[in-house]
Amino acid sequence: MFRVVIDEQCCKSCGLCVEFCPQSIIELSSDMNRAGYHPAVVISEQDCIGCQACVLMCPDVCIEIYRLKEKVATNA
Ligand code: SF4
Ligand code: SF4
Repeated sequence: MFRVVIDEQCCKSCGLCVEFCPQSIIELSSDMNRAGYHPAVVISEQDCIGCQACVLMCPDVCIEIYRLKEKVATNA
């Protein structure tokens, strides 16, 4: 499981993360940020494979990926 954090105020709507995400889980929002750009948003974070293509492609360094700890067993 991965957490995708996009700084919407940093985004310039270039669309590179949208184009290069192999899971097609990023799109540009219809909302605008303070600079007047439509920021990238993640539409189904549960499908992220953590490939970091979006992080590498973003020219403005707006995206961070976190690996979430997964519960592998429980006796509760
Ligand atoms: S890490 Fe990979 S799969 Fe996840 S949002 Fe970024 S490009 Fe898409
Ligand atoms: S690559 Fe970066 S600047 Fe371009 S749309 Fe994605 S988050 Fe915004």
